[in-house]
Amino acid sequence: MAAPSLWLTTLGCAKNQVDSEKVTAMLSEAGYVWADSPETADVVMTNTCAFIEEARAESVETILDLEDRKRDGAHSIVIGCMAQRFGTEVSDALPEVDAVLGLDRYGDLVSTLDNLTRWHPVEMKRRPAMDILHATGRPATGLPYGYLKVAEGCNKPCTFCAIPLIRGKQRSRRPTEIREEARSMVDAGVGEVVLVAQDLAAYGRDIDAPGGLPDLLTFLDDVEELARLRLLYLHPREINDRLLETMVSSKLVADYFDLSLQHASQPLLRAMKRPGDGVRHLALVDKIRDLSPDAALRSSFIVGFPGETDSQVDELADFLEQARLDWAGFFPYSAEPGTPAAEMDGQVPREEVMTRLRHLSAVQEEITMEKNAGLIGASDTVLIDQVEDGTPVGRSHRQAPEIDGVVRIDAGSPGDWVAVQYTGAYGLDMEAVRA
Ligand code: SF4
Repeated sequence: MAAPSLWLTTLGCAKNQVDSEKVTAMLSEAGYVWADSPETADVVMTNTCAFIEEARAESVETILDLEDRKRDGAHSIVIGCMAQRFGTEVSDALPEVDAVLGLDRYGDLVSTLDNLTRWHPVEMKRRPAMDILHATGRPATGLPYGYLKVAEGCNKPCTFCAIPLIRGKQRSRRPTEIREEARSMVDAGVGEVVLVAQDLAAYGRDIDAPGGLPDLLTFLDDVEELARLRLLYLHPREINDRLLETMVSSKLVADYFDLSLQHASQPLLRAMKRPGDGVRHLALVDKIRDLSPDAALRSSFIVGFPGETDSQVDELADFLEQARLDWAGFFPYSAEPGTPAAEMDGQVPREEVMTRLRHLSAVQEEITMEKNAGLIGASDTVLIDQVEDGTPVGRSHRQAPEIDGVVRIDAGSPGDWVAVQYTGAYGLDMEAVRA
């Protein structure tokens, strides 16, 4: 019997992306092959997201879409955060799905597939699945950037967030393991490694790595041929002078600060169990810009948290106008079962939440476009990620993959680091020529 073929659709955040890459490596090593499309696969799999209501709706939509598209006799498996959090509900609601495996059951994926496909390659000497999942080897993805998850889970008490209920308490990986994985990514053609975790700046607190993230950054300094490190999700409570100075003085770390400020109103931030307020957020922004005038700043914000008033929305809009961040992401508040905020009074009607979100997104988009226009004529260094419709497309230190704008260049190939001069700004994207 030929090796069965698989298809995997990945939803959600960069951490889920890393999980999918590790699952892909594990199943490939177990002998499975990958189909070109869901229609031709023997098994279709969905790596789901359960962060907020919208994400769950998209997960169900994707599962049902793959059910429609899979060929007769093919099987389906659901993995990821929704399988972890709502496994029983998914099985009950979607009986057509053959297996639902949460995050802590990935070690059973190979045997589950073997049983579903009745393929038992006894002649193959397979490594234990968990060894492969925890291995530091990373297959090439064809992209010159990749995500490296340095920890799993989170210990923070944010009242709106279900992630600790899904991913559990923080478990940091050992620095040596992380460096080994960074090396294997560089060997696989990655030039930019993006460090991710639910609470990146709290890295190491749960293991004997007292130096935390700053020490880890210094430890990764000697990964040969690694050209750029980028950090995503810095909780403001964890941002201190040592971290900022380490980031700014490092030759590897991109001058890119992804702050998860969430709001500017003090009473709302307190109800979220989040630190700071508009004044202190501005002070942090100013401190970063004093340390690194060419730094790019991003933040995520929750809109429509219970009790949010029009004047607090205005307060956030004013903060955006003053902070002039390069990028911002706005998430509609979603009452997550099991979170304290879901029980709070003053739940804001959905329509109103989306109206506020559109307003704040428009305020930020204006700022981003003005800042992009201000770059015309400036020089920069860009990593080319891919070629789109014949045009090389890449990113400077100012743009994180997949969430910010891009730079379109007149020449170059994926993986090239090119010196450029900006010639134009189009919406959230830039245009440049090789210098
Ligand atoms: S720090 Fe992030 S992942 Fe952790 S509880 Fe808060 S919002 Fe959720």
